Amino acid sequence: MTSIINHWINGELQPSASERYGDVFNPATGEVSASVSMGNSDDLEKAVESASKAFETWSQTSVTKRAQIFFKYKELLESNREELIDLITAEHGKVAADAAGSLQRGIEVVDFVCGIPHLLKGEFSEQVGTGIDCYSTRQPIGVCSGVTPFNFPAMVPMWMFPIAIACGNTFILKPSEKDPSCAMKLAELLQEAGLPKGVLNVLNGDKEIVDAILDHPSIKTFSFVGSTPVAQYVHEKASANGKRVQALGGAKNHAIVLEDASLDQTANAIIGAAYGSAGERCMAISVVVAVESVADELCGLLTKKAESLRIGPGNEPENEMGPLITDDHKNKVIDYIQQGEDAGATILLDGRDHEVTSKPGFFLGPTLFDHVNPEMSIYKEEIFGPVLVVLRVKDFNAAIKLANEHQFGNGVAIFTNQGSKAREFVHSVEVGMVGINVAIPVPLSFYTFGGWKDSIFGSSNIYGMDGIRFFTRTKTVTARWVDDDGSINLSMPTVK
Ligand code: NAD
Repeated sequence: MTSIINHWINGELQPSASERYGDVFNPATGEVSASVSMGNSDDLEKAVESASKAFETWSQTSVTKRAQIFFKYKELLESNREELIDLITAEHGKVAADAAGSLQRGIEVVDFVCGIPHLLKGEFSEQVGTGIDCYSTRQPIGVCSGVTPFNFPAMVPMWMFPIAIACGNTFILKPSEKDPSCAMKLAELLQEAGLPKGVLNVLNGDKEIVDAILDHPSIKTFSFVGSTPVAQYVHEKASANGKRVQALGGAKNHAIVLEDASLDQTANAIIGAAYGSAGERCMAISVVVAVESVADELCGLLTKKAESLRIGPGNEPENEMGPLITDDHKNKVIDYIQQGEDAGATILLDGRDHEVTSKPGFFLGPTLFDHVNPEMSIYKEEIFGPVLVVLRVKDFNAAIKLANEHQFGNGVAIFTNQGSKAREFVHSVEVGMVGINVAIPVPLSFYTFGGWKDSIFGSSNIYGMDGIRFFTRTKTVTARWVDDDGSINLSMPTVK
């Protein structure tokens, strides 16, 4: 008998109104570890009622008190770090060191909102007209919502709810149905830190509950991170329903390697970024664009290093790469490898042949393709697995053209020791997050995260100051404290 993961509504675990359940797997064994409730609109109604009621008092709670709760939350996240890492590894499959890193990147957003009194400070201009002052404030919006992907069960939810809540809103989180337990624990800990009941609710489920959230008139904002087709869909629907939307989608991140790059270091960085988390990262490097003069040597290094990766269950410390999330996803990745082979790309390393594939669990070895061209599906589409493709180009300009013409524009990296080339690259590349000799340029929490082109929909990035702006409304006040002279003036007020 497997355990059932229900919902977290009004500060307690609540059974679902729906009788639909989904399987949660341990990807390292292939076994079902729990059943997750697939919530419906009745569950949502309860969560909205609780969040709306909580908003009345939470939005009036002083900003210093809100900050204190997040200081306490940070302490609790740190003291419960091991349990959270175990939950991530058990349901996602990431190796523990990687799970720890992803949790840390989430905690950094909590660090950021510990400074919420400063972040919410408005502006003040004295004497904008004679006897007139002008100032602005940032106020919370109401009940906010977020829908998150499977690949970062702690970090991505923490890109959203700490900022929304610190700004004075209440929040309904719908984590991925593939690995929901971590989000449940995050909610429980925030309550332990002093958050009043109903301020954060977690609803489990799939498209049915997401559609209910999108249509609910009392939910004012919708934050989404996931694949591009779903990001596009939710952005359109939430916008049509009058919600503020931030929707981050998929990626195909290029690493451009110039002739003067330090090849061994570059290969190490690329291997980590391509195969870390089994390639299931939106900032994974999935394409190498190598100038022809270094391509042979680089491919040799990449093959040798990828071959030696240790693959196995994430809870065994010697392993560097874990399994894929589900068997279905593994088969999708295998299908892409076949498409690459059929299209004539050269397979330098074939993950389908790796010995780990004969073990239980959703394991696949690393795959490396050379001589890939821009028309191949393995270049054009996001595979989201341990598959790296190499394209060879004649020079820097051809490399930048490739990155700029790609549908996605999430992350990109250049490996070079030439400052002027790196600078030109930063200036001209049409991608939101750029690394210079850094393979995974995920911005720190006090910057802001977001791609360009089909990697994002809506005008707001996630976390950092964009997050603060997204989760607040600006009110600008013009105030005059002088006696009225009794005259009437119908013309537009101007500064005198
Ligand atoms: P997904 O789009 O399948 O699911 C994301 C969320 O949307 C889940 O909570 C899921 O339940 C829900 N969902 C799925 N299909 C839906 C539908 N038809 N209607 C409404 N809701 C739906 O993504 P995933 O497989 O969980 O995650 C991997 C994807 O997320 C990759 O494409 C990856 O690039 C992307 N991602 C992007 C970022 C980023 O910051 N840009 C970060 C992490 C992951």
